[in-house]
Amino acid sequence: MSEEQERNSNQQQEEEDDNLELRLSSSQTPPDDPRNGSANGGGRSRTALVRRNPSQARREKSETVDAPYPWATKYRATVHSLQYLLSKGICTITGVVQCKRCERQYEIGYDLSEKFKEIASYIARNKSSMHDRAPSVWRNPVLPKCKFCDQENSAKPVIAQRKKHINWLFLLLGQMLGCCTLFQLKYFCKHTKNHCTGAKDRVLYLTYLSLCKQLDPSGPFDR
Ligand SMILES: [Zn+2]
Repeated sequence: MSEEQERNSNQQQEEEDDNLELRLSSSQTPPDDPRNGSANGGGRSRTALVRRNPSQARREKSETVDAPYPWATKYRATVHSLQYLLSKGICTITGVVQCKRCERQYEIGYDLSEKFKEIASYIARNKSSMHDRAPSVWRNPVLPKCKFCDQENSAKPVIAQRKKHINWLFLLLGQMLGCCTLFQLKYFCKHTKNHCTGAKDRVLYLTYLSLCKQLDPSGPFDR
């Protein structure tokens, strides 16, 4: 493999790893090989990438993003409706958890219809007494038991570092949205046009209702 091919393949891999970081990484591209003769007007497209204006290295917020999961839409913090998902044969929503004791990471799946029905009926029964605040079961989620070491209440959801990659539907179905920080929940509310300020129990409540409404727009999930 020639140096040039190798460099190209490295670059391709970077793109696969995280094509959104490409702009940032362009400033770290290795120096030009003098044999490329870019000074002679070789017209190499790679040069253009390297010479990009550094101010463009700042991340720009676009209206849409690549849907991070099959059940997510291209809009931030927005999932498809239940009807749509079931019509596409998406019945199980998966996500990654990590045991707090043995620290092993693995994937678990929730049955979409079953879990949603459970949450929706809980809300229908209790909404009037919630007073716009998340109840204790939402604030302090009971975590799944670890499948490796059997520790109860131990498999904590792994929440994406980048907020646009957060697996909101998985967290809803596992009733683990309370594992999010206030900052992450506010991101959700901001991008779903929910004006919300205040304490975490309020923002958490809104996140639950808003996600349920995304799944079932005609359900009893208005504020
Ligand atoms: Zn474990």
